[in-house]
This record gives sequence, structure tokens and C-alpha cells, in this order.
Amino acid sequence: MKYEDLPDFPCDACGLCCMGVNQYDHSKYLDRGDGICKNLDLETKKCNIYLTRPIFCRVKDYYMSFLKDKMTWKDWSNRNQEACKYLKKLASEKEKENKDTTAETLKNQEIAKVDK
Ligand code: SF4
Ligand code: SF4
Repeated sequence: MKYEDLPDFPCDACGLCCMGVNQYDHSKYLDRGDGICKNLDLETKKCNIYLTRPIFCRVKDYYMSFLKDKMTWKDWSNRNQEACKYLKKLASEKEKENKDTTAETLKNQEIAKVDK
């Protein structure tokens, strides 16, 4: 299959895959100090170097360069979509945990006020 024939990878630009670059040897150099890529615009969740981003950030280019003889595009795309789903699940669990902690803190503050 030629590059032009590959269907687009379904990405909603959530930015989550750019927030753990410290976890892999190949992307550690992008870490701004807290695991988030120094090229990620946190407000827009867009990549500031999109056109020149590394090959491991390019699902199609990576496939064409290293995997096209080893697996189908569909398999590679599915694997990546699974990874996206996993990252979204973790993020949603973390958000829920933070909300619960905030609710608990507020509740404790209210109890403390009543006790005074
Ligand atoms: S985690 Fe997946 S959907 Fe989100 S920006 Fe990365 S590739 Fe796109
Ligand atoms: S270079 Fe761009 S696409 Fe790659 S991890 Fe950083 S922000 Fe994301």
C-alpha cells in the first residue's frame, strides 16, 4: 500500500500521547521536566512543531518506514487506537479521582466550619 492510500488515523487531538514522553528512551529528550512534551501547547493541545515532529509521533510515516512489511495498516492503526483508548481511560480515572479528592476536601472543610 502506498502512503497516499493509507486511511487517516482517527485522532481527536486530545494530546494525551504527548504527556508521557518521559516513559520511553526514544522520546525522553522531549520531556520538559514533568513528562509533558516541550512542544505541546497545553491550551490548544496542538504540537508546536507539527510539520517537523519526530517520526515516532507520525503514525503513518512510522508505519511506512518500519512496519509496512511486517503488518497491515489496519493492525497498526488498531494497535494505536487501543493505546489511545487506554490513555483516555487512565486520564478519565485520574480526573474522577481528583474530583473525589476535591469533594472530600470541601466536605471536610464544611465539617471543620460546623465544628468551630
Ligand atoms: S492519544 Fe490518540 S487521539 Fe489523543 S492525540 Fe494522541 S493519537 Fe490522537
Ligand atoms: S513533538 Fe509534537 S506530536 Fe510529538 S510528542 Fe511532542 S507535542 Fe506530541
